[in-house]
Amino acid sequence: TIEGIVIKSTGSWYTVLDPHSGRQARCRIRGVFRLRGSRTTSPVVVGDRVRAEIGEDEGDNVIVEIRPRTNYIIRRASNLSKESHIIAANIDTVYLVVTLDFPATSTEFIDRFLVTAEAYRIPAVILLNKMDLFAAPEYREIIDEFADTYRGAGYEVLEISASAGTGIDALRERMRGKTSLFSGHSGVGKSTLINALEPGLHLKTGAISGYHHKGKHTTTFSEIFPLSGGGFLIDTPGIKGFGLVDIAPEELARYFPDLFRYAAGCQYYNCTHTHEPNCAVMAAAGEGKIAESRYVSYLKMLEDDDQNGKYRK
Ligand code: GDP
Ligand code: ZN
Repeated sequence: TIEGIVIKSTGSWYTVLDPHSGRQARCRIRGVFRLRGSRTTSPVVVGDRVRAEIGEDEGDNVIVEIRPRTNYIIRRASNLSKESHIIAANIDTVYLVVTLDFPATSTEFIDRFLVTAEAYRIPAVILLNKMDLFAAPEYREIIDEFADTYRGAGYEVLEISASAGTGIDALRERMRGKTSLFSGHSGVGKSTLINALEPGLHLKTGAISGYHHKGKHTTTFSEIFPLSGGGFLIDTPGIKGFGLVDIAPEELARYFPDLFRYAAGCQYYNCTHTHEPNCAVMAAAGEGKIAESRYVSYLKMLEDDDQNGKYRK
């Protein structure tokens, strides 16, 4: 048998890597695993920790056990379809690459991304890239305010420059032995960063910058790349904001740790923190204990979900 991590999936073949020995085996899955998913859902995905039995022929290699997943991400088959696939599992950290400018990443985009990461239970780290462009002292206040907002919410914020090499060694060290996923708007420097972290690793740029080939994903094909220092990088086509988790409006505040820490003080257990009397979250926001941009993002996300104008007050 071989125990390891699934590093490649074509939908019918799965490459299992034993990270200790470096041994790899192409395997199939048992019918019994297939039956658990729907016809188009692949029940074994990249990142899965599995045990496989190795036969005389490659065609006899079969995955017999999948370890419980710590988390996983999904993608809807198409915009019109409700059906979704699990595309990767056991992600240790999702890195959101953002830039203050050139191009600017909006706080609303960041906050939506963080909510999704919370819902997926994947620890998120913010990489503030292109810091070489903001070295002048007049930028310090803006940078600190940005970093304080997210650190105050419990997120790590790392100031880096992919092209100048600042913070790259520390980041590589942080990724050692872990499975990492990079996301962020096009142009923020993901390709440059990955190239700085692991020269020679050529990912499909479109894949990590989040191209959406609508409706084309009828099969599941994804891959994770072993890093030379240990650990893996996930390259899955079609992940952008990975905003596919349906969150009920009354649950939304749970995914804003900086808001939610005050919610226990609200008068109503189902408080939406928009108009209710004796709302501790609104009080904290009013006192500046919650960053205004975060509370605004929360309200915007609520309004998106708001058919009847219930929260608009
Ligand atoms: P991606 O779309 O996120 O993969 O972004 P790219 O890696 O293609 O980078 C977009 C542009 O930003 C390129 O012109 C890069 O050279 C530039 N860039 C990337 N990182 C940095 C950085 O740290 N500082 C500066 N000044 N430019 C950068
Ligand atoms: Zn409240």
